Amino acid sequence: MRIDVLGVGFDNITADEAVSAAYSAVCGETPSGYVVTPNPEIIWLCRDDDRLRAAINDAFLVLPDGIGVIYGAKILGTPLKARIPGIDFISALLARMAESGKSVFLFGSKPGVAEAAAENIAAAHPGIVISGTCDGYFTDDGPIIQKINDASPDLLLVCLGAPKQELWMAENVSKLNVRLMAGLGGSLDVFAGNVKRAPKAWQRLGLEWLYRLIKEPRRIKRMIKLPLFVLAVIMKRIRG
Ligand code: UDP
Repeated sequence: MRIDVLGVGFDNITADEAVSAAYSAVCGETPSGYVVTPNPEIIWLCRDDDRLRAAINDAFLVLPDGIGVIYGAKILGTPLKARIPGIDFISALLARMAESGKSVFLFGSKPGVAEAAAENIAAAHPGIVISGTCDGYFTDDGPIIQKINDASPDLLLVCLGAPKQELWMAENVSKLNVRLMAGLGGSLDVFAGNVKRAPKAWQRLGLEWLYRLIKEPRRIKRMIKLPLFVLAVIMKRIRG
């Protein structure tokens, strides 16, 4: 079942259920597509962008990454079961995939990042097959799609930042010979060790966004949409 938060439908599932559904897709047991993890900023963009909203709502799994989404759903009177940070979801999925020798292709981030991430993922998850890497700065989709299809991975990580990665996955899903894709923003930077996640205590308190803002103050321009999102949710609740 999906829960609507300002026009975006989120899967109301636990982290374990999300990983199991994705693993079945990676094994080819269920028809799939791609996974998205929208935060309030992306929900806000969807209000004025039909194409982006359709790209997100058409996803195989729509997972609530930010604490803002969890509060939004709660304020609307339809709470979600769990917050599912994209990086935790993908780490758990890669661990499952490693047990059965599944393959992953890493696409996105600056040149060299996907390769560094590949080394660390291979070390952390012995058994996983890294079937290719490609950076996220390109002008033509064609050669990238060709490279991915030649590798035909079970899973493709698309880390181009939001909303670019969601639009890219929706546009190319039918052209790609992969079982599942996941759009995961800066995850390759984290796997590569270039970006540190917030300490566990901050994560537990749902303050990862604040940690990130302190580390990257330029994100304030994007995060300014958060109060607008909260206000829109409150107004929607008041209006019933
Ligand atoms: N990126 C990319 N191609 C682009 C723009 C961005 O590969 O044209 C990468 C960028 O290098 C970074 C990631 O996308 O690794 C965006 O990370 P961010 O944490 O900002 O993700 P978001 O919060 O937008 O999901």
